Amino acid sequence: MTNTWILTTDESIGALVETAASIGGTSTVVAVAPSAPSVTGVDRIIHVPVAENTPAEAYAGVVAGLLADAGSDVVLTANRPAERAFAGAVAAALALPIIVGATSVGADTAEVARYGGLTNETVEFNGAVLVLDGGAATQAGGPAPETHEAAPMGATVVSAQPASSGPANLAAARRIVSCGRGFKSEEDLAIARSLADALGAETACSRPLAEGTAWMTKDRYIGVSGMRVSPDLYIALGISGQVQHTSGMAGSKIVVAVNTDANAPIFRIADYGIVGDIYEVVPALAAALA
Ligand SMILES: Cc1cc2nc3c(=O)[nH]c(=O)nc-3n(C[C@H](O)[C@H](O)[C@H](O)COP(=O)(O)OP(=O)(O)OC[C@H]3O[C@@H](n4cnc5c(N)ncnc54)[C@H](O)[C@@H]3O)c2cc1C
Repeated sequence: MTNTWILTTDESIGALVETAASIGGTSTVVAVAPSAPSVTGVDRIIHVPVAENTPAEAYAGVVAGLLADAGSDVVLTANRPAERAFAGAVAAALALPIIVGATSVGADTAEVARYGGLTNETVEFNGAVLVLDGGAATQAGGPAPETHEAAPMGATVVSAQPASSGPANLAAARRIVSCGRGFKSEEDLAIARSLADALGAETACSRPLAEGTAWMTKDRYIGVSGMRVSPDLYIALGISGQVQHTSGMAGSKIVVAVNTDANAPIFRIADYGIVGDIYEVVPALAAALA
């Protein structure tokens, strides 16, 4: 019987829990976090408390030790910085392969998106560590966590500067308002934020706004070299829809695009398209929703 392990630093692992359930067998969450998480739909939760001023990555060796008997089990983790450190440590300790970018996972196969989603590979394995989207939090509840106290490797956070905007959790966002080069200045992004506020949505962007102008942080850009998201609603504002961008959001349930160019490629994948100027359309949408 397969045991699926889920390695995490927070509760945003709903998609991993669903994957573990579809694999069958038992599922165990290893949570490295200041407080024990609440996760429904799994058999067991092992909580590794994080010491004050210690980065979660410093517990990578502890996580690997907890999985020492995992053998050829399936290990799932979300595509986040500390989780990637855990994945590397576990894979090295167990001599298992790491598979990044899986879109679906079975007990011994995974579908993996390559080339920005242009190709889908089927990979067979006998035990693997898989890095994929974590999803949103599950409902509160689940088994009582077992505490596993352990000493981290030597690393200490000596200072922290707040970012100008809060950290993005786009993988868990159900609604996303995404901005492209149709915006003429950083200040103009305020109209997108008004729409996002009216919808209770996260804001995101195409790569030029994060890597080029730096109007948004790099954790907010969507695409082949950025975040992959699959929200219920994705609103693309002034985004042309190049494949490097759309490969990161093609899994969205409903896509709305606003663009002055009726021939923009984004309209090919949009469920609702508005050929118009974002400077007129977006404030009108926000006002209608307020
Ligand atoms: C190796 C590689 C990796 C890449 N990875 C990524 C990635 O991960 N993510 C990503 O996003 N890109 C990525 N890119 C870049 C990608 O190819 C595109 O250049 C980028 O996505 C374009 O961003 P954009 O749509 O915002 O800008 P543009 O392509 O310039 O499009 C701007 C759009 O805004 C419209 N517009 C202009 N003014 C208005 C207005 N007033 N109202 C409404 N619409 C208006 C225009 O008609 C146009 O369609 C990558 C490129 C390479 C080479």
